[in-house]
Amino acid sequence: MNFTPDELTNYREALRDRVCSLCRKFGYEEVCGVGVDGACPFDMHLEHILEAVLTTPRSADIGAYIPKIREKVCSECANQSDSGTCKSRDHAYCGLDSFLILAVQAVEDAFDRMHPAKANTP
Ligand code: SF4
Repeated sequence: MNFTPDELTNYREALRDRVCSLCRKFGYEEVCGVGVDGACPFDMHLEHILEAVLTTPRSADIGAYIPKIREKVCSECANQSDSGTCKSRDHAYCGLDSFLILAVQAVEDAFDRMHPAKANTP
């Protein structure tokens, strides 16, 4: 998928509004981080997160989104081992993994705001 700079800004702001404040409130700022620099997964993996969410058929079951998140995001993440394990995920230290429901809602709502015609298509 290709995203324009404006779209990426809109999606990132939506995630900031819906997820980042809670992430900080619950202390993830202290424990969540990708790679040696400890980057925020929403900054590090933004395009892959968007692609994973937006290519998953919409579902009320958050589990439906996990295969694409693992395939498109975690597989590219420095925190995941070659065998597919992730200590951050196992310890509930990854803000993306822990707040996935909010992240999916934020991305889908932002998509609907930017593409109202597609959002109203059954
Ligand atoms: S769950 Fe692990 S591998 Fe996936 S984005 Fe979070 S830190 Fe990276």
